[in-house]
Amino acid sequence: MSHETGDCLFCRIRDGEVPSTKVYEDEQVIAFKDINPKAPLHVLIVPRKHIATINDITEADAGLAGHLFLVAKQVAADAGYGDIGYQVQMNCLKGGGQVIFHIHLHLLAGGRSGPLLPAG
Ligand code: 5GP
Ligand code: ZN
Repeated sequence: MSHETGDCLFCRIRDGEVPSTKVYEDEQVIAFKDINPKAPLHVLIVPRKHIATINDITEADAGLAGHLFLVAKQVAADAGYGDIGYQVQMNCLKGGGQVIFHIHLHLLAGGRSGPLLPAG
């Protein structure tokens, strides 16, 4: 099922089995453009390690979780939004709007600011 590494879209993108437009990568994370952008800049920042949801993050992953924010800051700055401003969001489980069960930080900039999740 979708909570496992074997059938995970973002693991397949990480492994190059599914194409993506990468904007950043290092030994811990990859970042690529969202296929259905909700703002002029919409990048997904994804740890190489498969972690299904925020609920699955452990103390051992604390540095990695923090690193996602540092990469968001860097990608935003590189795209020219460092001083203008930007949004980051991570969804947890279906009720929180999560569709892909491999954690990822959404980085959005350049559009109308507001929640990513629809009301209701
Ligand atoms: P979630 O709802 O899980 O927080 O966000 C999943 C995001 O992944 C959505 O914004 C969706 O547009 C994006 N997405 C889904 N499939 C693909 C894909 O194959 N490639 C890319 N680049 N993004 C995808
Ligand atoms: Zn995965």
